[in-house]
Amino acid sequence: MYGRSQGDFSEHATADAIDIAGFTLADGQRISVLGDWPGEGKDAVFLRAVRDGACDLFSTVLSPDYNAAHRDHFHLDQAERGKTGWRACR
Ligand SMILES: [Zn+2]
Repeated sequence: MYGRSQGDFSEHATADAIDIAGFTLADGQRISVLGDWPGEGKDAVFLRAVRDGACDLFSTVLSPDYNAAHRDHFHLDQAERGKTGWRACR
């Protein structure tokens, strides 16, 4: 993960993860995680709803709330986190 040579592999290594940087709505409006996550506007509210909704579907959901490496995208994966049932939704 994060370009390190040691430690766990990213779920991307086995194509079991997807990163989403933004959305294009039916009317052509673009909403980006980098540009629209900060603040309280309707685009920020939309992005938080997407993040929170994804937590019902994916075992791991990482957003700008998680760390600076995710400031510009959502990371979604279905990693088996062992018997603990550990999930991440941040
Ligand atoms: Zn990712």
